[in-house]
Amino acid sequence: KKVIEQQRMIAEKMKKVRYKLVILSGKGGVGKSFVTASLAMALAMKGRRVAVFDADVHGPSIPKMLGVHGKRMYALPDGRLLPVEGPLGVKVVSIDFLLESEEQAVIWRGPLKTAAIRELLAYTDWGELDYLLVDLPPGTGDEQLTIAQLIPGLSGTIIVTIPSDVARIVVKKAITFAKRLNIPIVGVIENMSYFECPDGSRHYIFGKGAGRRIAEEMGVPFLGEIPIDPRISKANDEGKPFFVEYPDSSAAKAFLEIAERV
Ligand code: ADP
Repeated sequence: KKVIEQQRMIAEKMKKVRYKLVILSGKGGVGKSFVTASLAMALAMKGRRVAVFDADVHGPSIPKMLGVHGKRMYALPDGRLLPVEGPLGVKVVSIDFLLESEEQAVIWRGPLKTAAIRELLAYTDWGELDYLLVDLPPGTGDEQLTIAQLIPGLSGTIIVTIPSDVARIVVKKAITFAKRLNIPIVGVIENMSYFECPDGSRHYIFGKGAGRRIAEEMGVPFLGEIPIDPRISKANDEGKPFFVEYPDSSAAKAFLEIAERV
């Protein structure tokens, strides 16, 4: 009964969100959270009302990358939860804001995690939004599907990959995933595509154009390539939003271009 009521609440709230996108990757560590956080800031920069829902509870990456790690969500007397306000007005919702310590994340598994995610979706005061970006746990299996199914009326999925042979398999699995949800693939973003030297020359360390080629082969849009940049991992580790710290970087510019395509 409680579940049905919560699902009704989610449906009601999601009506006020124009585009609901889930971000997928084949495995951890390809930069899915970084891409989600940066795309959110790029969209906000363009004047869109954006929220990020962190459903990847393997650690506080989204809150860190948006510079709000350690903050708390507050509950209003009527039970509504207020999102944490991140840079450029991006709303951030994460289980991380409800945990007492980082070690606690370990206990969020299976049904417990689904229940927590459902509650967060239902009780958060999302307000009117242009974009809700959902950072799913890495992978394209049942866990990710279960979480995605909690959000009615999804608009599409974005696939984050890196230049490597497994990218083809990832895109294939993501297509199957999107079919099961009956939603389109908005496109593929290739992260860590190249390294840019101070003189502006680009070095495609892992080979050039694989992401674009695979996307074309599979008949899904290619959204853009993001460089590998040591300042990115440094900013992320320090809990500073890269996009805001380095707005003139090639990576930030790439996100602004991608924001026009989603
Ligand atoms: P995922 O969400 O796919 O597990 P993360 O977004 O947490 O991956 O990124 C994994 C690590 O790689 C983080 O330490 C992050 O700072 C770093 N990283 C991600 N993208 C880049 C990039 N383009 N250049 C340099 N470091 C990156």
